[in-house]
Amino acid sequence: MADYDVVVVGGGVGGLTAAALCQYAGMKTLVLEQSDRIGGCCSTFKTKKGFSFDLGASVVEVPHAFEEIFKRIGKKRSDYIDFMAVDPIYDYCDLSRGIRFNTPVSLEGTAEILGQFSKEDAKAFLDFAKIYTPQIKELVENFFYSPCQSFSDAISMLIKFPGILKALPLFATTHQKIVAKWFKHPDILCSMAFQAFYAGLPPDLCAGLYAVVGLLEHQGIYYPKGGMIAIPKGIQKAFEDMGGKVKMKQRVVRIMVENGHAHGVELWDGTQITAKNVVTNINAIRVYKDLIGRKHIPWYVWRGLNTMELSMPCPMIYLGVDYTPPLQAHHTLTLTNPDVMNSYWSDYYLKNEIYNVGGRNEVMGLISWASHMDPSLAPKGHHVLTHMGLAPYNVAGNNWDRYKEQYIDDAIDTIERYMIPDLREHVVFRDMMTPVDLERELLHPGGAVYGIQTDLSHMAMFRPANRSKCIKNLYLCGASTHPGGGVPTVIAGGIITGDLVVGDNA
Ligand SMILES: Cc1cc2nc3c(=O)[nH]c(=O)nc-3n(C[C@H](O)[C@H](O)[C@H](O)COP(=O)(O)OP(=O)(O)OC[C@H]3O[C@@H](n4cnc5c(N)ncnc54)[C@H](O)[C@@H]3O)c2cc1C
Repeated sequence: MADYDVVVVGGGVGGLTAAALCQYAGMKTLVLEQSDRIGGCCSTFKTKKGFSFDLGASVVEVPHAFEEIFKRIGKKRSDYIDFMAVDPIYDYCDLSRGIRFNTPVSLEGTAEILGQFSKEDAKAFLDFAKIYTPQIKELVENFFYSPCQSFSDAISMLIKFPGILKALPLFATTHQKIVAKWFKHPDILCSMAFQAFYAGLPPDLCAGLYAVVGLLEHQGIYYPKGGMIAIPKGIQKAFEDMGGKVKMKQRVVRIMVENGHAHGVELWDGTQITAKNVVTNINAIRVYKDLIGRKHIPWYVWRGLNTMELSMPCPMIYLGVDYTPPLQAHHTLTLTNPDVMNSYWSDYYLKNEIYNVGGRNEVMGLISWASHMDPSLAPKGHHVLTHMGLAPYNVAGNNWDRYKEQYIDDAIDTIERYMIPDLREHVVFRDMMTPVDLERELLHPGGAVYGIQTDLSHMAMFRPANRSKCIKNLYLCGASTHPGGGVPTVIAGGIITGDLVVGDNA
C-alpha cells in the first residue's frame, strides 16, 4: 500500500496546480518543496530592512488561467488571490533622447499615444489588434489546455479547435518579420520588439507567435496583493483546505523506478516516500538525468535530452529606495532597437559577454515597481524596484560571485542614463540573484528562466511530455514542459498534467 496516491516534486505554481486537481479528485496528494519558500520563480521574499521583493515573476496576464484552476476545484479565485489591475502596461523611456511614453491597457488609448509618433502606425496597431487578438485568445484558451504528447494529439487538437489553424502561420515566421511588416516608426518598432525576450530569444529567432502575445496585455494585466507569492500561497491554501499536504525543505534526490514504473521518491536524508504516481515540477532534463538515471531511460530518449537547450538566464537586481521614484508605470523599459537586440544575442550573449557600448557595459532590462501597486511591500517613505536583465550563465573571464557587485553598479548606471537620473543617491538596499544564485536556490540548471528553450524545436510535442513516454506513472509539469513558461502558462500545464493523472487513475 503506497503512502500517497500522488507525490509532487517541487512547489512551483505548476506543481501546486496539478496537486490541487489530484486532491480535488479524491487522490491523497503530497507536495515536496526543497526550499523554505513556496512558489519557485513566482515568489516574494522579505529582507531584514523590511523590503519585500518579488524573486522573479513581476506581473501576470491571462486571468482566464487563474479563474480556470479555481473553478475546476470548485472554488472562487477571489477567495484566495486578490488581484489588482495594472494600468498603464509599460512606460517606455529613453531619457538620453528625451523620449518617454506610456501604453495603457485600452487599445484605443495606446493607439492615441502611438499616433503622436506616427498616424499610420497608430492605425496599423488597431488593425494588428483586430486580426491577432482573436488568434492569440484562441491559442491561450484552447492550445494551452490541450495535451500535446504527439503529432496525433496535435491533429486531434486542431480538429477539436479549428480556430487554432488560423494562428498556425504565426509559428512559421519570426517575431521580427511580423513587427517589421506592421510598424515603421523606429520608436514604435522598439516598443513592439522587446517581447521576444519574454521567450528568451532575440526578435529574429523568436517565433512570430510572441509578436502578438503583447496583445494579451491589452486584455488586462494584474498584480496580486501581498506580492507575487500570493499566487502560489492562494493555490496552496485551496489545496490544503481540501486535505492536501505541503512539506517544505524536502529535497528529492531520486525517483524510485522499478520495471519501468515510478513508485515513489527518495529524499536527501534517505527517507523513502511511496506513491502510486509521481508528478515532477522541476526541470525535465534534471528529472530524467539526475533523479531517474541512465539505466531506466531508453537510449533515444537520452539522446533527445542531450539535444535540448536551456533557456536564457534572467539576472534579477533588487533595489530598496528612500523616495518615490520618478516612474510612471509598474513596468518601465528602455526603448531598444530590434537589431540591437539581435546583436545583443549573437555578438555578446552567445559569446558569454555582457553587452557593451563604447567600452561601457549596458545592462538592458525592465524595471518593476511593485510597491507602487502594494505599498505594504516597502517601509513607509520607501519603495522597492526590481530590475530584470538578460545575461549569460558563464561570464567570460569572470564569475558571477565576483562580478555581482560590478553588475549592479553597471545596471544602476544604465538605469540612470535611460530611466531614473537620480537613482544611485536614493538606493538604501541593493542585492541581486545571479543565474548561479537561481541555480543554487531553486536548483534550476543554468539559471534558465523557462527551463528549456522556447523556440519551435522545443514547443508542443517537441517539449518534454506531460505524461512520461518512457516511465509509467510519471508525469511532468512546469515551465520546461508543454505549454511552457510564464505563470499562467504553467497553470495551464499543471491543469493538463493534473487531468492526465486523474484520468489515468479513474
Ligand atoms: C526572473 C524571472 C522573471 C519572470 N517574470 C515573469 C513574469 O513577469 N510573468 C510571468 O508570467 N512569468 C514570469 N516568469 C516565469 C514564471 O515565473 C515561471 O515560468 C513559473 O513561475 C515557473 O513555474 P514552475 O511551475 O515551472 O515552477 P518553478 O517556479 O520552477 O518552481 C519549481 C520548484 O521546485 C523546487 N525544486 C527543485 N528541485 C527540487 C527537488 N529536487 N526536490 C524538491 N523541490 C525541488 C524549487 O525549489 C522550486 O520551488 C519569470 C521567471 C523568472 C525566473
